[in-house]
Amino acid sequence: MLQIKQICKQYKTGGLVQKALDGVSLNLRENEFVAILGPSGSGKTTLLNVIGGLDRYDSGDLIINGISTKKYKDRDWDSYRNHTVGFVFQSYNLIPHQTILSNVELALTISGISKSERKKRAKEALEQVGLGDQLHKKPSQMSGGQMQRVAIARALVNDPDILLADEPTGALDSETSVQVMELLKQVARDRLVVMVTHNPELAEAYATRIVNLRDGKIQSDSDPFLVDEGGMETPVHRNMGKASMSFMTALSLSFHNLQTKKARTLLTSFAGSIGIIGIALILSLSNGVNAYIESVEEETMSEYPLQIQSSGFDMSSMIVSQESSGSDEASGEVKVARMVTDMFSTVSANDLASLKDYLDGGESGIGQYTKAVEYSYGISPQIYRLEKDKARQVNPDQSFSVLGLGSASSTNSMMSAMTSTDVFYEMPENEKLFEDQYDVKAGRWPESYDECVVVLTQNGSVSDFLLYTLGLRDSAELDEMIRQFAAEENVETPDDIRRYDYEEFLGITFKLVNGTDYYEYDDAYHVWKDKSEDDDYVRSLAENGEDLTVVGVVQPSEDASAAMLSAGIGYPSSLTKHVIEKAEDSEIVRQQIADPERNVLTGNSFGEDNEQNSFEMESLFTVDEEMLKSAFGFDQSALNMDLSGYFQLDAGSLDLSGLSGLGDISADMPQLPGLSVEDLIGQTEITVSAEQFAALMQEVMAGYQEYSKSHELTDPSQMGEHFTAYLQTPEAQQILSQGVSQMIDVEVLESQLTASMNSYVQTAVDTYTQAMMQAVQTQVSSMFQQAMTQMASQIETGMQQAMAQLGSGLESAFSVDAEAFANAISVNMVEEELAELLASMMSGQDASYDNNL
Ligand code: ADP
Ligand code: MG
Repeated sequence: MLQIKQICKQYKTGGLVQKALDGVSLNLRENEFVAILGPSGSGKTTLLNVIGGLDRYDSGDLIINGISTKKYKDRDWDSYRNHTVGFVFQSYNLIPHQTILSNVELALTISGISKSERKKRAKEALEQVGLGDQLHKKPSQMSGGQMQRVAIARALVNDPDILLADEPTGALDSETSVQVMELLKQVARDRLVVMVTHNPELAEAYATRIVNLRDGKIQSDSDPFLVDEGGMETPVHRNMGKASMSFMTALSLSFHNLQTKKARTLLTSFAGSIGIIGIALILSLSNGVNAYIESVEEETMSEYPLQIQSSGFDMSSMIVSQESSGSDEASGEVKVARMVTDMFSTVSANDLASLKDYLDGGESGIGQYTKAVEYSYGISPQIYRLEKDKARQVNPDQSFSVLGLGSASSTNSMMSAMTSTDVFYEMPENEKLFEDQYDVKAGRWPESYDECVVVLTQNGSVSDFLLYTLGLRDSAELDEMIRQFAAEENVETPDDIRRYDYEEFLGITFKLVNGTDYYEYDDAYHVWKDKSEDDDYVRSLAENGEDLTVVGVVQPSEDASAAMLSAGIGYPSSLTKHVIEKAEDSEIVRQQIADPERNVLTGNSFGEDNEQNSFEMESLFTVDEEMLKSAFGFDQSALNMDLSGYFQLDAGSLDLSGLSGLGDISADMPQLPGLSVEDLIGQTEITVSAEQFAALMQEVMAGYQEYSKSHELTDPSQMGEHFTAYLQTPEAQQILSQGVSQMIDVEVLESQLTASMNSYVQTAVDTYTQAMMQAVQTQVSSMFQQAMTQMASQIETGMQQAMAQLGSGLESAFSVDAEAFANAISVNMVEEELAELLASMMSGQDASYDNNL
């Protein structure tokens, strides 16, 4: 039994004091269905939260089974929430990326029940709410009503004495609301259900008792429960039992899939944050988590440290709420979840430089609460291994680059983070965070920036991939497998993989290359040239690079609670510092810093770089408009021609290796707007009587038939030409001028058509010119500039050639295709269009020229 005695609760915001509850007294039976009604802001949610221990009251008392909660500590409240109360919210608060079974199971993880028992109970709870056959669906695959039932199952799985529901049907349509109410009614048979709603009809129909609230006071109570105070013991304070729980079990549910890649990639922290916040939210709301965090936070934090990134993201917005719920069958409308838009609106920038100053300043007092504060700079050291004939880049790893999977050098893409094959990573600066969790199997921990360790997995193994990285297996074998994979051939995998002694790893050396050394100064043009594609150059860089030596082999110790390091090769954070210092010292960086406006790679100001590319493009497009003007017919298919061929610059005649990206431009090319004779004619405003027109055409065709017979013209592919020729003959001219002059002013028509054609050609050329420029700009902007300076004249000629080719390509597209002409006008006209014209004539209508030609 719950007794609420003279409870008051105020909210102070700024200078404003809001009385949310103003002396509320209410006794609740062990077994009833109470509906709390009242206008918005009347204190319903506050009352419910106070009853559920989610919110503290200012004065009064909440007496639970005869025990006063006045002196309750956080732990007591946690225990009360955990054992006694279940919550259901209007927004279901389900974890989107987990099945509904996991969602329900999660509520049990803190009660120290075995996994199989948890699963069994979660299943039962879901069966109870009628979802026993959908255990493996995700929330997004369910309707609002179903999600709310999952939430109810989650609330019931602990078998609480009290179920509290805050507007559980607030986001549901009336039909689904009824289903949820039926369920709650059933639930209320053997426990107390307190439901907040502002729907009096639902309350009337289902609740056994209705309490009206207004301005924080009880207005009416349909079935008050009077308790004889005299007969009761004075409420006393008693401690509740302590719930055992494994927070790690809870976490492992959501991190199960991420265990394998604990590298602090964007992906991990992103998905990890969703998991942590999602779980923390649910646990703290429905069961209370505060008391338990302490005992497990060390493990948790070492595995999933608190991270602050330069742009923040409100992960709680990812929790499924009513807005992002699934389809709403009844309304027949599709809701739109504001995912992307919300995402952007929840991203904010963090000023990390100031934060670092603050933390380093020593005033923050954060040291008291943290084991270590680590900074990461998004830097990957360039690491090579010298092979017989070349230097192989092992970090960022390039092995899979042929597959188009990004390396970690583009960590801003989630895809690449997921598919990253990098084995090198930075170890935390503070050795205390990991050293005592690992056994050194051979050698020692790094002592300077040019030393690293091989980190084995928990069971003491390395991946076969690492063997290639370390050079213990021939990387040619890996490359061949990747090639076979890319070519969709059968991949021949080696079967002679053996075990290795720890000592075999020790002493393996890699070569460090400074990122800035890829650039070489060009005295002639005063720019820095990127030579990273020049294999010989890179090899000599690697040969002269500093050594990075494997000095130890470590393995997580048996009793290590959490593995701080990933399996792979760990290098000390001093290496990152070293890389930064080297870059800072380099000439190219100094030059850039000295002149921040001017891009040292191109010699231009940063904004200018893109514009520069367009200068030649337009002038290189030459289209013979005279020729186009003379055309009458049009071949659309030729217009949609593939221009890619014209951009395969002849590499033989000039070195355009740096411009190879141009080959892809065709992909960015738009389809030319289609143009049919209809469109062309449609733009001229001529309407002739169908009768007249049909007669004329018949005459022309008859004339042509005679002409072709007398000239023995039989080749159909030549028909267009012949027809054109025929049109030039005096006979045809006469027929036409006679016929046409009766109908239309030929000259006007001709000039209108010419104008239409011209405007079309202009549009088409413009479209292409623009797309061309855009594609070229986006794809080759910096590459182009570099190549420009190096081989200005070569490129100019090359581009001119390409453009000239393109020009003539366009010309031929626009010129009249004889066959198409014949098909479009003569044949189609006579057989189909004419039939239509005739039909419309028979019905006595005028067919308009522009619709039917
Ligand atoms: P209801 O659920 O009936 O709509 P609430 O219990 O949410 O009402 O709120 C009651 C009153 O308390 C309202 O005036 C509201 O503005 C105020 N209130 C509720 N929560 C807070 C809060 N966290 N901070 C400040 N004022 C609050
Ligand atoms: Mg409310």
